[in-house]
Amino acid sequence: MNIILLGPPGAGKGTQAKKISENCSLPHISTGDILRENISNNTPLGVKAKSYMSRGELVPDELLITIIKERLSRSDCSGGFMLDGYPRTIPQVDALQMILTESGRKMDVVLNIDVDDEELIKRLSGRRMCACGTSYHVDFNPPEKEGFCDSCKGKLYQREDDRAEAIRNRLIVYKKQTQPLINYYTKKALLRRIDGSKDISAIFEGIKKVLENYD
Ligand code: AMP
Repeated sequence: MNIILLGPPGAGKGTQAKKISENCSLPHISTGDILRENISNNTPLGVKAKSYMSRGELVPDELLITIIKERLSRSDCSGGFMLDGYPRTIPQVDALQMILTESGRKMDVVLNIDVDDEELIKRLSGRRMCACGTSYHVDFNPPEKEGFCDSCKGKLYQREDDRAEAIRNRLIVYKKQTQPLINYYTKKALLRRIDGSKDISAIFEGIKKVLENYD
């Protein structure tokens, strides 16, 4: 099954993507994670992406298209994949379509997680991350010991783009560049809406219900 997870920043895409990936045995492809890893390793790609990301802007399409083309060509994607954070613009949609057509594949479903702006700002500004990939929220999902990860005991940090100014920018960018994708995939009859205002396990139950109709 080939899945896209759409939704504004803070909708919980990363959290749900991990759960879907385990449940359906699909590789979880997060372009945000790929970019952050490149930044940590100081690669040429990471150097190019860093300033866009810290301002809450999108990284240029040509870089993302190169990343996704390479990632989708790997053998672990031959039985299906789940995209989290890609596509985010219409040129990225077109590039994805071309990559899939060339390799005789197609999208099966696009899950759109809906959450209102006020809730998104609360979620993003309170989010804390661990280098091991686990995320927390200071109020809604705090770690046992403040500031430290429950699973690896690492020190938690706030993503640079989870600070107030960058959050505002990310929401503006989302509305302008990514929201049009909802219309696009609705017209293609691929879009399924998920109520993202609930808690993590209730959202996942909603997703499982939708995915029961595909295999
Ligand atoms: P995420 O972890 O998905 O919230 O992504 C974090 C940041 O990485 C975004 O705010 C963008 O700056 C960048 N990014 C991730 N995916 C993409 C994409 N498909 N197109 C452009 N920029 C992206």
